Amino acid sequence: MTLDLARIRAMLEEERRRLSAALATVNHDGSISDETGDLASGPGDGLADHATDTFMRELDGGLEENAEHLLAEIEAALRRIDEGTYGTCVVCGRPISEERLAAVPYATLCLDDKRAQEGR
Ligand SMILES: [Zn+2]
Repeated sequence: MTLDLARIRAMLEEERRRLSAALATVNHDGSISDETGDLASGPGDGLADHATDTFMRELDGGLEENAEHLLAEIEAALRRIDEGTYGTCVVCGRPISEERLAAVPYATLCLDDKRAQEGR
């Protein structure tokens, strides 16, 4: 399995840029966090138009905290690409499946360990 790291990096960097922009918007308008999940009612800068991909859907809680968390995950993923550990499960050290990385590019756990961690 060969991951297309250049493509993944470009995607992560794009999302980092987008999230940073979204966070800047939230920070400039404290009212947004009171309107649960309704980014469209913001100050009208077209943010909702971009809220269509996987990353932004995770903001559905409407919480700035989520965006900051996601941003940290993305930055960590970019660091792992630099370090050459990207795509490896931090728990068991096995490669994370390509399908999983396609869905969650900043994943640090293989599906088994993810399930084990969430396991209730
Ligand atoms: Zn694992």
